[in-house]
Amino acid sequence: MKKRGPKPPEFEDRYNINKKSGCWIWAEFINPVTGYGIVRSPFSTSRVASRYSWELHFGPIPAGLQVLHKCDVRSCVNPKHLFLGTCKDNLRDMVRKGRGAKQRITHCPSGHRYTEKNTYVYAHVNKGRAPARQCRICRDRHREANKLKNDCRRG
Ligand SMILES: [Zn+2]
Ligand SMILES: [Zn+2]
Repeated sequence: MKKRGPKPPEFEDRYNINKKSGCWIWAEFINPVTGYGIVRSPFSTSRVASRYSWELHFGPIPAGLQVLHKCDVRSCVNPKHLFLGTCKDNLRDMVRKGRGAKQRITHCPSGHRYTEKNTYVYAHVNKGRAPARQCRICRDRHREANKLKNDCRRG
C-alpha cells in the first residue's frame, strides 16, 4: 500500500460502507442522471465524488484520464474500487459489461448449469422481448410442487 496523503477527517463521514460489496456509497448528493456521487462545496464548483476520492488517496489525476469503477457502482468512492482510464476505456468497459450480460449467466438461480440439454427456452407472452431461459431441473421441480399442491387441494 502506498503512503496516503493527508485527507480531511470528514471524508469518512460522507459515505456508507456496503459490507457485502465493500463499496463506499456516497451518502450525499448523487446525480440522478449519471449515478455519480457529487461533492458539493460552497467554495468551488461541485466535483464527482469518485474523482475527489481518488485525488484524496492517490494524488492528482493526469489530464485526459477518467476515474473508472471496477465495481460498476458509480456512487462508490472506495479507492480500492477505482482505477484510471481514458474515455475510450470507459466506453469499451461499458460496452463489454453491457453486451451479452444475460448470456454470461451460466447457472440458474438455484445453481444448476445452463447446458443445452438442461435449458428450456421460452418466448415471452408480450412480443418484442428476448426469449428467456429456464433450467429444466427447476421447471420440473416447480411442476411437481404444483401437482402436489393441487393433489392436496383435491384430496
Ligand atoms: Zn465499489
Ligand atoms: Zn435450476
